[in-house]
Amino acid sequence: RVTKWLQDQRVFLKNLVTYAPFTLFPTPVPKAVFLQALAVQTHYNTLVDKISQDPDFLEEALASTIAVDDFTGRLFRIHQQILKEGRSQSIVLGLNRSDYMLDQRNNGLSSLKQIEINTFAASFGGLSSRTPDVHRQILKMAGRLEESQRILDNDPAAGLARAVAKAWELYGSERAVVMFLVEESQRNIFDQRYIEYELWKRNIPTKRKRFDDVCEKGSLDQDKRLFVDGQEVAVVYFRNGYMPQNYPSEKTWEARLMMERSLAVKCPDISTHLAGTKKVQQVLAKPGVLEKFFPDKPQVVEQIRATFAGLYTLDIGPEGDKTVAMALAAPDQFVLKPQREGGGNNIYGSEICQVLQGVKESTERTAYILMDKIHPAPVQNCLLRRDAPLQISNCLSELGVFGVYVRQGKDTVMNDCVGHLLRTKSSEHSDGGVAAGVAVLDNPLLV
Ligand code: ADP
Ligand code: MG
Repeated sequence: RVTKWLQDQRVFLKNLVTYAPFTLFPTPVPKAVFLQALAVQTHYNTLVDKISQDPDFLEEALASTIAVDDFTGRLFRIHQQILKEGRSQSIVLGLNRSDYMLDQRNNGLSSLKQIEINTFAASFGGLSSRTPDVHRQILKMAGRLEESQRILDNDPAAGLARAVAKAWELYGSERAVVMFLVEESQRNIFDQRYIEYELWKRNIPTKRKRFDDVCEKGSLDQDKRLFVDGQEVAVVYFRNGYMPQNYPSEKTWEARLMMERSLAVKCPDISTHLAGTKKVQQVLAKPGVLEKFFPDKPQVVEQIRATFAGLYTLDIGPEGDKTVAMALAAPDQFVLKPQREGGGNNIYGSEICQVLQGVKESTERTAYILMDKIHPAPVQNCLLRRDAPLQISNCLSELGVFGVYVRQGKDTVMNDCVGHLLRTKSSEHSDGGVAAGVAVLDNPLLV
């Protein structure tokens, strides 16, 4: 019986548990650009927060998109309804991750270019808190002690939890829990667990719930306090809800609306969710827009703008027509992006022409934005992934920086940069993150 049990366990483990994929060696990253990315993070936090508080900006920026993109349109309607009813909670909690690639310049230098900012369910803060030790160990075993000592400490899990804990504390009820709103079956559970453990260390109770749990057992009391399964929720930390398929029924949308209406602190709230859309990213790159958010801080504007790649509107009109012509003439220089998250949605190369030929005369094109394609210098490494052959590949990396902020009414209580993430993929793949099975976890080795 024991043998049988062990066999069952092995089958169970084989099917369900595997290591998070990682690179054999850390990837060289120029120190100056790395520090630049860390330094701009608190400004990005402020920017996201300001956008979320600016209904007129959001409405104007997203007008053409919501007319054709049902998902963004639906989110926008929730946002409008909350504005109409009045926000019930003045505590705001933001956990962001701004992602960059290093564009290779002719002069041999590289320049930091933002790929996107994630304001919703930005992941890998947990796992990237563990990867420094992996590379330290490998480098020591490979006889490269000096390099092993240069692997940076990194603990985004602690920093993210610190912000969640602050929001929980401000909410002010010891019995209330932090609810992680998660998927039905969550492949990336361990990433979330590290944040949960950091909260438990501070005696803050956490619960994992799905949309179905909220649909079936969630309610608001007369003070709009959110209860799920009899327990009061202080903070809803969304790790699910950013894709259309996360809302399979009307009930799921109703659950989202109920959480947004509630007194619980939402991470993110609906307007911060919208602030993270790719359309907003494109509008921010238009001349004069950043200045409106930082009227008396030209240096902040400059610091943020330095990280922008070329971003182009596809709105109806001469400017959008110009974008279409530009993309059709040189599709390999661009990425066409719909308003989606989670990897695998972007369009590259000749497919850009196919898609644009189909929509270029109609408002459908406004569901997309166009972006300059970033060309990082490839670096050789070995990607260690379950069941994948062991081989050296040409790799490209993407640097993420975690930022957290907490605001109560007009007071910014916290605004910090709390760590980084380096993801590396084979240069054959133009798209896709770790969860999509393309990229793997890595560490920067500053050079
Ligand atoms: P998602 O919300 O799906 O993560 P991203 O904008 O981050 O969307 O794009 C997904 C992936 O596509 C990125 O991780 C990156 O590998 C690649 N990518 C996106 N934009 C660019 C770009 N401008 N240049 C080169 N690669 C890009
Ligand atoms: Mg991304």
